[in-house]
Amino acid sequence: MNIVTVPAKARPVSRTERPSREQAEEAVRTLLRWACDDPTREGLLDTPKRVVKSYEEFFAGYHVDPVALLERTFEETDGYDEMVLLRDIRLESYCEHHMVPIVGRAHIAYLPHRRVVGISKLARVVEAYSKRLQIQEKLTAQIANTLNEVLQPRGVAVVLEASHQCMTTRGVHKPGVSMVTSRMLGAFRDDPATRREFLAMIRGPSDFGAD
Ligand SMILES: [Zn+2]
Repeated sequence: MNIVTVPAKARPVSRTERPSREQAEEAVRTLLRWACDDPTREGLLDTPKRVVKSYEEFFAGYHVDPVALLERTFEETDGYDEMVLLRDIRLESYCEHHMVPIVGRAHIAYLPHRRVVGISKLARVVEAYSKRLQIQEKLTAQIANTLNEVLQPRGVAVVLEASHQCMTTRGVHKPGVSMVTSRMLGAFRDDPATRREFLAMIRGPSDFGAD
């Protein structure tokens, strides 16, 4: 039996008791029958087990506390107070309306105020919130707000570009469309020059210096 410990702070919104693994697998069998296939045929026998295992990966973010990830910061920065930018972070999330993937990229910047954080932690925060059922707008805000509250920097900028499989493989069937959301806080919101610098930097090296 696989028991996952959930830190109290990270326990998200589960207002109901978590079903057992067996119950989850049975639910997958129900969906297989709903799709008009036969869960007892050879090719599908282990599918419920695999799906439930995949769900543990897809939704691992419910077991991670993003605030705790950012708690260790570094103050010895020799006064570095310029923008810190992490660009092109792979984003894999799941649409909360259809439970299908949202795949894209995240760009995150902040203007440190005395404290900086390890850059891998920025990517971990993206992962902690994206490995949950989401809408892109909320995901963008959660990442930005958490960085802002914990690091208390002079500004935070988050841009997500992602394609939604609920739009590309069903419904309106519009492949190649990506949705872009952003949340700018502090100097990125108030100072157009700072915002421009950030937007130029996420467009790529070829744009550097091209004003
Ligand atoms: Zn959707």
